[in-house]
Amino acid sequence: MFYKNALRKIRKKGECPFCIPPKNFIIFENPKAYLTPSRAPYVKDHLLVIPKVHALVLDKLNSKEKESILNLIVKGIDLLKKKYPAVAIEYKEGDLDKSGKTIPHLHFHLLPKMRRNESFNPGSKRRFLSEKELIKEVKRIKFMD
Ligand SMILES: [Zn+2]
Repeated sequence: MFYKNALRKIRKKGECPFCIPPKNFIIFENPKAYLTPSRAPYVKDHLLVIPKVHALVLDKLNSKEKESILNLIVKGIDLLKKKYPAVAIEYKEGDLDKSGKTIPHLHFHLLPKMRRNESFNPGSKRRFLSEKELIKEVKRIKFMD
């Protein structure tokens, strides 16, 4: 399925897909945040770090929540650096539409990079993984080497 179609379904359902993820979608977690493969990846091994509290912007988080996010960003970078020479972190802050976020729950993208000038434009053909595909990605990425 394409992400744009999945997004339409998600919006129609009216539930935040980042608030309560199934445990088998999670690579690592701590009490305040979790690390998961992107379900609509820009590139292979695209990860997301997501706080468990539903918030749109960083200043709604307390210091423990921010620290938990940072810890998982470091963990995600450690995983990706087993296979890639570099990692880019993308975060969109602010107003939902103006920032270009598609889910109203803040999240950090961890994007593996092979080259300096790599760009991450997912385009309109961005796929949305099935639950089965996502669970397979969790297992593969958790033990990436
Ligand atoms: Zn949420």
